[in-house]
Amino acid sequence: MSKYVFGVDVGGTTVKLGLFTLEGELLDKWEIPTRSENSGIHILPDVAESILKKAEEKKIEKSDIAGAGIGVPGPVDSEGAVHCAVNLGWGEFNVEKELSKMTGIPAKAGNDANVAALGEMWKGGGKGHKSLVAVTLGTGIGGGIIIDGKLLSGFTGAGGEIGHLHIMDNEPDKCGCGNHGCLEQYGSATGVVMLAERHLAKTGKPSMLRGRELSAKAVFDAVKCGDEMAIEIAEQFGEILGKGLAVIASIVNPEVFVIGGGVSKAGTVLFDYIRPAFDRYVFKGSRSTEFVLAMLGNDAGIYGAAKLVMDHSVYI
Ligand code: ZN
Repeated sequence: MSKYVFGVDVGGTTVKLGLFTLEGELLDKWEIPTRSENSGIHILPDVAESILKKAEEKKIEKSDIAGAGIGVPGPVDSEGAVHCAVNLGWGEFNVEKELSKMTGIPAKAGNDANVAALGEMWKGGGKGHKSLVAVTLGTGIGGGIIIDGKLLSGFTGAGGEIGHLHIMDNEPDKCGCGNHGCLEQYGSATGVVMLAERHLAKTGKPSMLRGRELSAKAVFDAVKCGDEMAIEIAEQFGEILGKGLAVIASIVNPEVFVIGGGVSKAGTVLFDYIRPAFDRYVFKGSRSTEFVLAMLGNDAGIYGAAKLVMDHSVYI
């Protein structure tokens, strides 16, 4: 009977690793650099070596390890195959099979945002819920859709990419994906800055944001101080994000949206701006969907990756 599980979250610059009990107690966490040179050929061997070293250090037998779950930044299908993780330099290959071969323990792989959603459902803001949409408002917008406890990965593993929901026509700027008018162009940390820049340039009204370095945090700090311009920027942000989430809720009908990422550090004040637009646009059968804050921060990925191993059929 195994007792331990590893959770791995591969980011563009660092790989986070965690050792958990099967009950989800985090016993140890650490990081190693992500060596993405040479098409990322070192990344998985580094992860495997780090896992085996930790097991040795903690005197854990392989037979006591249920496996290692791994979240990667790119589409991963339900068979554990990666389809072009651009940030890592990876093309097409099966992460689960490779990692399992290198470590001698079972492995499970998932897209990082999907895996983080699973972590939030297991031990974070979504605890107690089985149908949720996790929304990570960071540099971009990551999304993870869980229905009745199972992750939606989709045909090529690109399911739940809610950051690229088309929300605005006639947007001159290009999104990172190449399209124009994606949700993450307005609702991410970068998006809030863009909205602020445009709004401040449009009118000459005074604001505490003028002459300061703009960030999502600066905007929401100014909102809390009652700054009129900042409030207008937050209203634009809320209108667009609320509309996007209403579209998603009308399809998925989740119990909750779990809102995380850097922008969510502003706290529940975000919901004051998202909720009115959400209520206005959502199908009335989905109006009971609640908004909660994510709780695990940067650890959501390692928790979710560990959970990935424990749920035998985690994908829809
Ligand atoms: Zn896009």
